[in-house]
Amino acid sequence: MEKPTLAITVPCFNEELCVESTVKSLFEVINDLIKKDKIKDNSFVYLIDDGSKDRTWELICKMHEENPLVKGLKFVRNYGNQKAHIAGLLGVRDLGCDCCVSIDADLQQDQWAIEKFVDEYMNGADIVSGIRNSRDTDTFWKKTTAICFYKIMNLLGVKIPMNHSDYRLVSRRALNILAEYPEKQIFLRGFFNEIGLKTAIVHFDVKPRKAGESKFNYMTLLGLALNGITSFSIMPLRLIAVLGFLMALFSIGLGVEVIYEKLILDNTPSGWATIVVLLSFFGGLQLFCMGIIGEYLGQVYREVKARPRYIKDIELK
Ligand code: UDP
Ligand code: MG
Repeated sequence: MEKPTLAITVPCFNEELCVESTVKSLFEVINDLIKKDKIKDNSFVYLIDDGSKDRTWELICKMHEENPLVKGLKFVRNYGNQKAHIAGLLGVRDLGCDCCVSIDADLQQDQWAIEKFVDEYMNGADIVSGIRNSRDTDTFWKKTTAICFYKIMNLLGVKIPMNHSDYRLVSRRALNILAEYPEKQIFLRGFFNEIGLKTAIVHFDVKPRKAGESKFNYMTLLGLALNGITSFSIMPLRLIAVLGFLMALFSIGLGVEVIYEKLILDNTPSGWATIVVLLSFFGGLQLFCMGIIGEYLGQVYREVKARPRYIKDIELK
């Protein structure tokens, strides 16, 4: 196999404190790989400015002027990390790379693992997933919720490896498949897992964020998790049906019991507590099930409108 043109995509949202040193570090990796004759010397970095309010785009433009191998794209507003990733993947596909690696702007993922990604690509893998060695840099709460998410996803039949991240290499072939998916809300971890191309795994170390703060809050993480589940599994909808069936059986049994008490034992109890408990239980259950259906309805609603995924403002090619 011929050595590839490698593109590195970096989503950036208010990363003025990180972006310059990150690009510098990434070119250290690229130059090292060029020296080792593992990638072509037209390999480049592609930064996606996800509607930053700070000097991020200004800095990207400056770096592009100094080195045309720094390329980029600016969204008109913030569309969130997944869409920035998708725009990066489709952008470098158009620019013509053989494979691309996506990495975060804060370089929490060890950039020197990129060499291993490229080695796996040369061994024939179309997708190389980065798996974190540990989650020590995450807070206890983030760790626990992340573990729950992967457990639930696996239970629901979406087999994503634990501690998977959006640090991965994908080949041109995988990018071409992505370009054929009209779906607007793609959950990339589920997507690359599902398309069934040859996959390899590389373990990497996580470092603390270089500078600035995490750009995620718990609402955005919850949104990401719900989107991940509802776009890849219909199991929750089935569970609702099963639950409804079980509840129906239960209420038949309860009905028989009530009639028995009334007619045979003739000791109709005051029964207030039972009614209150059952009422609130069924009320809660119904609202929860409606919420699940609502999530899917929302998914259909967004897709059926078929709005563009994002709107590009400026592109540096
Ligand atoms: N990011 C983005 N859009 C957003 C939020 C985050 O493009 O709306 C980028 C961010 O600039 C970074 C990556 O996504 O490159 C991961 O974000 P962050 O490091 O803040 O997340 P954490 O590591 O805390 O999960
Ligand atoms: Mg980070």
